[in-house]
Amino acid sequence: MKLPSWISIRPLRHYKGDDRTKCPDCGGEMSFVERFTMSGDDRRTYRCQACNKEHIVDFGMAEWKRLSDANKPEG
Ligand SMILES: [Zn+2]
Repeated sequence: MKLPSWISIRPLRHYKGDDRTKCPDCGGEMSFVERFTMSGDDRRTYRCQACNKEHIVDFGMAEWKRLSDANKPEG
């Protein structure tokens, strides 16, 4: 999937707690737009009304990926 150039991917470690859903530019609360987990990562698109921009927030490993990894034998 090709993303528009104005969307930036921000790593989870940049955020603390609920700041994940806050706009990295203005700090305002963003509204949830879309979620995509095809790559095994739980990435969600949030939109900031104030900046009129969308930001992709990385929530880490997707649930289906975590479950499939958990089924693998240890070692
Ligand atoms: Zn903003």
